[in-house]
Amino acid sequence: MADPDCIFCKIIAGEVPSFKLYEDDRVYAMMDINPYNDGHCLVITKAHAENLLNADPDDLAAVLPAAQKICRAVEAALEPEGINLVQANGPAAGQTVYHYHTHIFPRRLNDGAMLNWGHSPGDMARIEKVYSKIMAVM
Ligand code: AMP
Ligand code: ZN
Repeated sequence: MADPDCIFCKIIAGEVPSFKLYEDDRVYAMMDINPYNDGHCLVITKAHAENLLNADPDDLAAVLPAAQKICRAVEAALEPEGINLVQANGPAAGQTVYHYHTHIFPRRLNDGAMLNWGHSPGDMARIEKVYSKIMAVM
């Protein structure tokens, strides 16, 4: 269940300190120690899984209610101008810790976080082709 080389498993086991915000049977939440903005924190599954692709769906189902609880506290305590939930899977997505986690990412207007991509009209033929590829393996 735990990976002895995983920093988040060590935190859950109490071997590495953390600023714990919340815990239940399935999830653990703490402050991120390299915050982008004040209030940046993480909700992680207690069970070790690399990311969304192989996490237990029941663990994932526990993540969002915990994230809501923490977002409400962050909102009340810090009054950010927005909050993103960010969750990385794989190197191109920026994943650096390979134990499932969702970032609670408080936002300030014009904070420069590169999360706000623009919307430009898509090529419907291309979208349909990609859609068919995904649907074929659903
Ligand atoms: P990601 O890059 O999406 O995999 O996110 C991993 C996050 O874990 C980063 O934002 C790190 O700052 C954070 N992190 C790494 N080690 C620790 C730690 N010991 N305690 C709290 N957060 C950590
Ligand atoms: Zn782990």
